[in-house]
Amino acid sequence: MSIDEDYYRNLLDKLFDGIFCVDRNRTITFWNKSAENISGYSISEVVGRVSCREIVAQTNGAQRTDSGEPPQSILEQTLNDGVAREGEYYIKHKEGHRVPVACKVEPIHDARGQISGAVQIFHDNSSRVAARSVIEKLRKLALIDPLTGLANRRYIDKILEGKTDEMKRYGMSFGVLFIDIDHFKQVNDHYGHEMGDKVLWTISRGMSIILRSSDVLGRWGGEEFVAVVLNVDREGLMRVAEKMRSEIEKIQIQENGQAFNVTISIGATLVEPGTGMDKNLILKKADELLYVSKNNGRNRVTLE
Ligand code: GH3
Ligand code: MG
Ligand code: MG
Repeated sequence: MSIDEDYYRNLLDKLFDGIFCVDRNRTITFWNKSAENISGYSISEVVGRVSCREIVAQTNGAQRTDSGEPPQSILEQTLNDGVAREGEYYIKHKEGHRVPVACKVEPIHDARGQISGAVQIFHDNSSRVAARSVIEKLRKLALIDPLTGLANRRYIDKILEGKTDEMKRYGMSFGVLFIDIDHFKQVNDHYGHEMGDKVLWTISRGMSIILRSSDVLGRWGGEEFVAVVLNVDREGLMRVAEKMRSEIEKIQIQENGQAFNVTISIGATLVEPGTGMDKNLILKKADELLYVSKNNGRNRVTLE
């Protein structure tokens, strides 16, 4: 190695980023200290011995090609077309696990301007990848009710606000159902709290299948639910509510070889433009209508 090469090697070894070079045949020709640290492979294990294919794992989510060949890494693409690229993918660590990396790839040209290889500069992206998945988890936790998997109260609140806004601006009416399980306390008292939880989950599934995918069903709290039903008129809303009521009534919940069923009461209101309704008034009205259903004997829908 010449003095110059020594000088540059020392310099590149001090960099935080991993750097490696490949020749046209994808064989690794240079490997710095950080590349060693990130991958677990020492220089002597890779330089002149290993193709980048053995080090670079598949791009996130990439499929094999029709011929069964693994998809080309961005390094290989750059070797083919000489275009510099950036990307995120995985390095296969010597210990067997994958390390997410963010990288830049640049082509290397010979004196005649032909592509003679490529250099990849990369760093360990684990903390960023982990942070992203934590954010995704938190986002879900913040808007999803963990017991039923339905939207939570905060989410329903946001939806109601948004739909009320849209109604005022574009004149699109929508329906709101306030739903409460009848005599749910007795279910807990009779079958236990755990069974009560199972019932909440089962009823949630039963109600969900009645709605269209654009509608939103959420758990308001305890054994109370709110559904926001889009693109309906009064008759349509009544039909949805009634279908929901009868669907739940029919569900046979299994308990130690025996079956029981629960019923729901619903207050339904169509929110129309020009009525000066806001989110709180809508919920108050739907809740009042629910109590009419309760007072009239439960297992029924009251719409106004
Ligand atoms: P009504 O027909 O008038 O609505 O009677 P109810 O018994 O359903 O109403 P009440 O408000 O008296 O009781 C609601 C019960 O719901 C009491 C509470 O213990 C139960 N509950 C609330 N949240 C949960 C939960 O997350 N899990 C279980 N198992 N029970 C819950
Ligand atoms: Mg209640
Ligand atoms: Mg109840």
